[in-house]
Amino acid sequence: MTSLRKTSPQVAAAVLAFALIGGCSSASGNDATGQRGDIQGKALAQCLSGQTIPAGSTLNISTTVAPITSIVANVAGGLAQITGIVPEGTNSHTFEPSPSVAATLAHTDVIFANGLILEEPTKELAATNLPKSAALCELGTAVLPVDDYIYDFSFPKAGGKPNPHLWTDPKLAARYVTVIRDVLVKMDPSNAASYTSNAAAYTVKLNELDAAVTTASATLPAEDRKLLTYHDAYAYFAADYGWQILGAIQPSDFAEPTPREVGDLIAQVKSSKVKAIFGSEVFPSAVLQQIGRETGVTYVDVLRDDDLLGKPGDADHSFLGLMQFDYVTMIDALGGDATVIRNLNITNVAPDNAKYPQ
Ligand SMILES: [Zn+2]
Repeated sequence: MTSLRKTSPQVAAAVLAFALIGGCSSASGNDATGQRGDIQGKALAQCLSGQTIPAGSTLNISTTVAPITSIVANVAGGLAQITGIVPEGTNSHTFEPSPSVAATLAHTDVIFANGLILEEPTKELAATNLPKSAALCELGTAVLPVDDYIYDFSFPKAGGKPNPHLWTDPKLAARYVTVIRDVLVKMDPSNAASYTSNAAAYTVKLNELDAAVTTASATLPAEDRKLLTYHDAYAYFAADYGWQILGAIQPSDFAEPTPREVGDLIAQVKSSKVKAIFGSEVFPSAVLQQIGRETGVTYVDVLRDDDLLGKPGDADHSFLGLMQFDYVTMIDALGGDATVIRNLNITNVAPDNAKYPQ
């Protein structure tokens, strides 16, 4: 370990800034127009605005990030054609679809996106290329009241983009499933029974994940249930499972933090006595590595929020595989017992024939 960096006079401000990141999920107030709930209600109505396809034809579904593709595939169960848009391993927050995606959208009956302003360029392309009969379904926007949006260091309220990572919270992922089921049942009623039973079976799996994460989290003393991550993907999870977000390092413009911010974070890590800090496999961070080195804290750089494990067709290339991996990784590194998560059966409930761009 190198010599300790001198504490900068900015520490107090930094501590305050990072304290604000914590799991305060209901203090964000009204949306920009002051209309509580209106955005959520409109989003849900839009999800259900697609026309029913003729009996005997196949529903064409587009999806944005890979976790959503996997969730939709489990509900659709091989009865629909599913095409992902955002390639795995890319920065989904800055992703701009190539013009060729327009052709996919032109044959899409419903596109499932995350929403909360994650995929604006894809939404714009969809607005001009989706058929009139199609639906644009922003799952996060449809399931989460505006009052529950989380804003923090990486997603400051002033920037207008709330933290969009709802899917890493098993409880919120289960709400996605309900909306997806309702959309598929409405647009393709011939297969309603299958969609309904797939959704029920998948919800059981998500409830098992929920219970396992709760049990494994409880093996950590409260003072160790703390996350300092590079990419800010676990804010809703933390709020729902009693974890504290110490901070996320990635600034809102996805650049690197300034040297002064790094110095402040080093002081913050030392004073918090956190046992491990977490980088993201999609965003390798020399800065987090430096913080780990200078604080003597274990640096784990493999978390992932929208890049599934393995490759398409692999058993663990799935949303459930991703969640199992992340929460086992976190709880192991912090000294807890993640056995109950490791023992989950993460098999998909239905065949996943979706196209996952790489
Ligand atoms: Zn992300």
